[in-house]
Amino acid sequence: MLNRIDLRGSTTDPRGLLPRAQLDVSVAVDKIRPVVEAVREHGAAAVREATERFDGVTLGALRVPAEAIAASVEALDADVRAALTEAIARTRKVHSDQRRADVTTQVVPGGTVTERWVPVARVGLYVPGGLAMYPSTVVMNVVPAQVAGVESLVVSSPPQVDNGGLPDARVLAACALLGVDEVYAVGGAQAIAMLAYGVDECAPVDMITGPGNIWVTAAKRLLRGVVGIDAEAGPTEIAILADDTADPVHVAADLISQAEHDPLAASVLVTPSEALVEAVERELTRQVAATKHTARITEALTGPQSGAVLVDDLAAGLRVVDAYAAEHLEIQTENAREWALRVRNAGAIFVGAYSPVSLGDYCAGSNHVLPTGGCARHSSGLSVQSFLRGIHIVDYDEAALRDVAGHVVTLANVEDLPAHGEAVSVRFK
Ligand code: NAD
Repeated sequence: MLNRIDLRGSTTDPRGLLPRAQLDVSVAVDKIRPVVEAVREHGAAAVREATERFDGVTLGALRVPAEAIAASVEALDADVRAALTEAIARTRKVHSDQRRADVTTQVVPGGTVTERWVPVARVGLYVPGGLAMYPSTVVMNVVPAQVAGVESLVVSSPPQVDNGGLPDARVLAACALLGVDEVYAVGGAQAIAMLAYGVDECAPVDMITGPGNIWVTAAKRLLRGVVGIDAEAGPTEIAILADDTADPVHVAADLISQAEHDPLAASVLVTPSEALVEAVERELTRQVAATKHTARITEALTGPQSGAVLVDDLAAGLRVVDAYAAEHLEIQTENAREWALRVRNAGAIFVGAYSPVSLGDYCAGSNHVLPTGGCARHSSGLSVQSFLRGIHIVDYDEAALRDVAGHVVTLANVEDLPAHGEAVSVRFK
């Protein structure tokens, strides 16, 4: 089922040889540009037009009425409510430990620089709702924003035909459990444009976070700068670094679980064990046939973005997973914890047999909005820090400025910006 990539004996940089989605976000950017521009020019009317076209829903009010949000939590199944409540508690516990303290550095006597962490004022949180529904993503977006102290939080999620044109009822219930009451029934690129530019019915936000499909990712890329954007969190990925000690039943189940998200999802096994690959293949055939979303899982597992990569040993495997920079990386090897500490590039790492990615998707306490497409080389997943800006407060007194004035003037002259130097020396004339 999986493409085989044999890197045994290879000494070249593995980056270009690895399975990757042939997913060109820049092509999608060109396709959604007219949607984004229409929203900028025509506001809510363009949001409605795009929703009709892409979601098959005729929207009345864009904003979900408060009664519908309240009703969704009333109607919530008791087990789902308990599970969401537990997920919220664990996520809040982990994220509460992330808040950075302000730091004041005494540079010289009379001269300090303070780094003050200030929350973004208004944030738009995108919660996907095309192929699957993600109440868990509400938790993963809202909790860190709340811990950071964001005052105004907006959720936008696609309207569902089977919920009367409102977002998924469980998504609304999760909003209610978290105290979010500003929710819009808008998905796709039109949602990102609405949040970025604002329309009559929705004031613009300062920052947009959250995962989404290629259209959402493309709109975020296009609007970066108009608003703040978290890392690109596109179609999901799992890489598993495994050896002979891994249980093929677990490995196959975890590869399948990510493939379930999206036909474009990537599932990659990296191992020195040919026997494990064979055993995992047998398990995939058995488990995929028995699971619910067989068609999209098969498409994802057989796509060019998925595969089994054979390496000489675990050290070579480590180089491969670092080059791949997976959104989710599982380590199913002997001494898994030690290997995990040696990984440089991953969105999140899941250690050993009992920390599957599904745990992190819901209830580990970690965040599941993570960088995809290799962005884990330079970006982190969503955290409290994502919603804070560090503002430097520079506070020098006269003596401290006088003491360094000569150096400032010298550097200003080197850059041929004499007025910069003058702005300092004028104070001492
Ligand atoms: P989505 O909400 O991202 O996309 C649905 C929207 O796409 C619809 O509202 C529609 O308006 C728009 N759309 C559909 N077809 C279109 C077209 N041809 N042109 C323009 N717009 C179109 O929901 P989804 O499709 O289920 O995708 C969710 C994605 O989010 C999956 O890829 C999943 O793997 C990913 N995800 C990632 C993370 C992460 O942290 N990286 C977490 C959860 C989900």
